[in-house]
Formats: sequence, structure tokens, C-alpha cells
Amino acid sequence: MRLWEFIESSDGIVVLTGAGISADSGIPTFRGKDGLWNKYRPEELATPEAFRKNPELVWEWYMWRMKLVFSAKPNDAHKTIAKLEELGIVKAVITQNVDNLHERAGSRKVIHLHGRIDEARCEVCGKVVRFDEPISEIPRCCGMMRPNVVWFGEPLPEKELREAIELSEKFDMIVVGTSGVVQPAASLPFIAKRSGRRVAEVNVEETPITAIADLFVRGRASEVFREVLKLIG
Ligand code: NAD
Ligand code: ZN
Repeated sequence: MRLWEFIESSDGIVVLTGAGISADSGIPTFRGKDGLWNKYRPEELATPEAFRKNPELVWEWYMWRMKLVFSAKPNDAHKTIAKLEELGIVKAVITQNVDNLHERAGSRKVIHLHGRIDEARCEVCGKVVRFDEPISEIPRCCGMMRPNVVWFGEPLPEKELREAIELSEKFDMIVVGTSGVVQPAASLPFIAKRSGRRVAEVNVEETPITAIADLFVRGRASEVFREVLKLIG
């Protein structure tokens, strides 16, 4: 299997994941078919403007998504990536996902570029709280609390982005289930290539990343990685 050959011949891999890796766990993506969320478009609710205008509505949407995330289970893609980290092959996961499925599958080093849906942050003092189950009431601090995620139009957390760039320069990369259109995450595979590293991509369809990928594996993430898991034994 070609993905296994890519993995086996590598001196270290960083995995970049997007919503597609969690699609097989029942969490819908933003883009692509079946990509529509409930009755709202993400662009209408995942913004600072939407939150200013109607925080209750935005929280309602996030609490609904939080429930979805907590009731979902990691699939074979999450599990295989965690296993490969345990074996010392995967060095880190860089994820655009706000879910916690990588951690729940056993991954230890996970960089969340877009924040986490299981956290809230105080808009006044900056305090972050993490929940280990879905919440049904808006959390309060000294000020208004908001979901601790990166919204459209907001910058990425600096430390996480810096670390993601460093990892992309240093290791081969497997890109899984990302549409490759959300910047700056989409530029990480290009950074890897520019640094002389190899890039493999797993997706059900081609993306802007496919053109520079050394290997493109078409398929559902859980099925492609299930094959890898069999080969690890
Ligand atoms: P995206 O929704 O833009 O793209 C999803 C990609 O996954 C597409 O390229 C699609 O072809 C591919 N895909 C769909 N099903 C797949 C499968 N079973 N196996 C492999 N690939 C599959 O997602 P994105 O690129 O991550 O960017 C969107 C933003 O949406 C991110 O910033 C993220 O924060 C947010 N988001 C997060 C979640 C989550 O946390 N699970 C879910 C939806 C959106
Ligand atoms: Zn506070």
C-alpha cells in the first residue's frame, strides 16, 4: 500500500487534519457535499460580528455542535494516527478541527490551530475553561464568555501557528481531509514542500494541495487508515 510505503520510508511525520477526518465519525464538514450545518451557514454564525449581534444564538449553535462532538467517537483514522505517534513515527498532529477526537483517540501532541469547541474564554480577563461534557447554559466569568475557537476573520493563535510552521519545515507531512482553502493552514503543505519534505494527501476529492503532493490517496480517511492499521499489526 502506497501510503504505508510513504510512512515506512519517512524519518518523521507531521499530520495536518481538517474536518474531513471527522466526517466518518458523523461530524459534518463545512464544505463539500453533505457539508451544510443545521439550518445556518457557518459564515453567518462563526464570526465576531454574529456574536456581538446575538451571543445567545451563536452559543446555541456551539452548544449544539459541542453535543455532537461529545457524542461522536474517534474513527480508525484518528486511532491509527495516535498509534503511529506511540510508535514514534508521527511527531505531532496539527489540526484545524475544533473537536477533541484526536485527543480521545490517544494522540498526545495535538496543535489546535482553530481552537477547541470544548473550551470557553472570558472576553474580559481571558480566562479559559475546558468542559468534559456538553454544556447547556452560557458559561459566565467576570465578563461575557465566548467559545474558545477562531472565527472567520480572526487571526490564528501565534504560538500554535509558529509551532505548526516549524513542524512543517522539519518533517514529512500527511494532509487528511482538508479542503486546502482556509489560510494560513492551507499554506503548511507548501512550506513542507519548499523545505524539501515530502507531502502525502488523503481526501475523497482533489484539492489545491493535490498539485504539489508526492502522493494522493483518494478515499475516506477512516478506510484508508484502517488499511495502515492492519499493516502495523
Ligand atoms: P472543510 O469543511 O473546508 O473541508 C473538508 C474536506 O474534507 C474536503 O476537502 C472534503 O473533500 C474532505 N472530506 C470529506 N469527507 C472526507 C472523508 N470521509 N475522508 C477524507 N476526506 C474527506 O474543512 P477544513 O479544510 O478543515 O476547513 C474548515 C474549517 O471548519 C476549519 O477551520 C475547522 O475549524 C472548521 N470545522 C471543524 C470541524 C471539526 O472540528 N470536526 C468540522 C467542520 C468544520
Ligand atoms: Zn473573566
